[in-house]
Amino acid sequence: MISINSRLPEVGTSIFTVMSRMALEHDAINLSQGFPDFPVSDQLIELIYKNLKAGHNQYAPMPGTPALRNSIADIITKTYQRPTDAEMEVTITAGGTEAIFSTIAALVKEGDEVIMFDPSYDSYDPAVRLNGGVPVHLKLKPPQFAIDWGEVKSKINSRTKLIMINTPHNPTGSVLREPDLKSLEEIVVAHNLIVLSDEVYERIIFDNLEHQSVLKYPKLAAQSIAVFSFGKTFHATGWKVGYAVAPEYLTREIRKAHQFITFSVNTPVQLALAGYLMNPDNYLQLGKFYEQKRDFFLEQIKGSSLQPLPCFGSYFQLLSYKSVSGLSDVEMAEWMTKEKKLAPIPVSVFYNDKTDHQLLRFCFAKNEETLEKAGAILRKL
Ligand code: GLN
Repeated sequence: MISINSRLPEVGTSIFTVMSRMALEHDAINLSQGFPDFPVSDQLIELIYKNLKAGHNQYAPMPGTPALRNSIADIITKTYQRPTDAEMEVTITAGGTEAIFSTIAALVKEGDEVIMFDPSYDSYDPAVRLNGGVPVHLKLKPPQFAIDWGEVKSKINSRTKLIMINTPHNPTGSVLREPDLKSLEEIVVAHNLIVLSDEVYERIIFDNLEHQSVLKYPKLAAQSIAVFSFGKTFHATGWKVGYAVAPEYLTREIRKAHQFITFSVNTPVQLALAGYLMNPDNYLQLGKFYEQKRDFFLEQIKGSSLQPLPCFGSYFQLLSYKSVSGLSDVEMAEWMTKEKKLAPIPVSVFYNDKTDHQLLRFCFAKNEETLEKAGAILRKL
């Protein structure tokens, strides 16, 4: 064995894989890794089958099939009033994670600083470091997990290149509001920064709140890459199809990385999605659908000693177990999985310094039966 100087020495296996595996091993209800346990639409599956049978089985064009990019550009133009050019501003990627990685690979140079907010999704920090960048972690505090824009300003210096945001937010379920986007716009315009905005839960937003996309703010959109995911919108996380929307000068660079990271994304699914997107009913109801799930889950845990935190979007609910146990959140998640047969995700793993607020994340993208069973366990803790 030769000794390798690991580029990510302290990184182990992703917490989602660890907890899903533990859930399987201990026959626990898996509310850890975020994925729905209900089926994809038959119509969409038929469309994929039709495209497979019609022989659409070779490489798609590198930036994505024109049909899908056209559908997306139309929807973005209508939804966020941002006129979007399918040819030069939309790139289909292997899920949101690849869009994020390709963007960072294309834009971040050795020593460039990238501001991110903890708890942050587990791929952000390694993606920056693998590309020679320096992550700058700012901490958000429960229960609101609000961004302190004054603090953001104080961290900007000549090396700052990119700010990463995520709304609706994984793992906390918080969402950014209009004043947040306005503060962000002011800062990035003043300092010539780029924004990488992870909006994969754009349609999973509750309580009549409006999703605050960077694309809605023209000056901000001119300096931003917005990342989306069909896995979240169509209950198909395993297909790994997402996309990045960015102005032409940024898209050109992102595609340079994308073409050597995945080259292109599977053709039949892209063609099927293009057809399926024609009918807005196929995605406009998603917020209400998941709002009911959130409410159903909250109903199930009424009477439990675990305290829910506000959840305005995404399909994750945080629960505080402070009044129940002094265990660390990692220990608690493990204990719950092994002893109580219910698997959550500990939130401290999303803090660079492992800050432990004794919070667990539960995925409520599940059938009512699954949520009822989980509720019964949580009520007895
Ligand atoms: N996005 C999913 C989650 O937050 C996990 C995806 C993965 O396993 N990498 O649970």
